[in-house]
Amino acid sequence: MATIKENIQEVHRRLVNACTKAGREPASARLLVVSKTFEAAAVREAHAAGERAFGENYVQEALDKIAALADLRAGIEWHLIGPLQSNKTRVVAEAFDWVHTVDRLKIAQRLSEQRPERLAPLQVCLQVNISGEASKSGVAPADVPALATQVAALPRLRLRGLMAIPEPAQDLEAQRLPHRQLAQLLQGLRDQGLALDTLSMGMSADLEAAVLEGATLVRVGSAIFGSRPAKA
Ligand SMILES: *Cc1c(COP(=O)(O)O)cnc(C)c1O
Repeated sequence: MATIKENIQEVHRRLVNACTKAGREPASARLLVVSKTFEAAAVREAHAAGERAFGENYVQEALDKIAALADLRAGIEWHLIGPLQSNKTRVVAEAFDWVHTVDRLKIAQRLSEQRPERLAPLQVCLQVNISGEASKSGVAPADVPALATQVAALPRLRLRGLMAIPEPAQDLEAQRLPHRQLAQLLQGLRDQGLALDTLSMGMSADLEAAVLEGATLVRVGSAIFGSRPAKA
């Protein structure tokens, strides 16, 4: 079985190939290592292999891992990529560097109010329900411009861009479509005057499609750590 380090190298090869194919700078799509359900020791291994940005889905699990890896804290960026309920905003505002899953103003306002002054502004993305799935969280595409304007005005947040988890699709063209739609939404916000630089999209199965459509932050878990136990 390949090691975490070998898997990371393979993911970087995939990212570089996709960037080349897209005519993009090889470093323009950053890797966010998704460590949910894996132990702190696995994160430590990925860190030793050179990775610095880690994504977690479950707040309590993440807090435990952040504590276990406190010695590495200064060099790590912790990203929350899972759903965020309003009763968890304070611990998230205190412990994370990024939140990708802001999808309503109330959550953003709480995060801004609760972000400690001693820390840099919290970096946020709006999660967009790009495939229009009823069960998925995320703001509807039509509501993105208004929410983006409101979130961008909050003092302790820095709005960086958009995030989506499209419905899985098999072939490359089908995978590209929702990523293209997210990229177009981001462009619309820029045309509105917002200074945004982040498209958080692409996972183990569709990172090539995402990079071809402009992903700047690609969230990869199972291609690095192996498959996760099915969540009940
Ligand atoms: C789990 C997860 C990922 C990583 O998915 P893989 O298929 O394991 O690469 C990316 N983004 C989000 C929001 C996730 O929950």
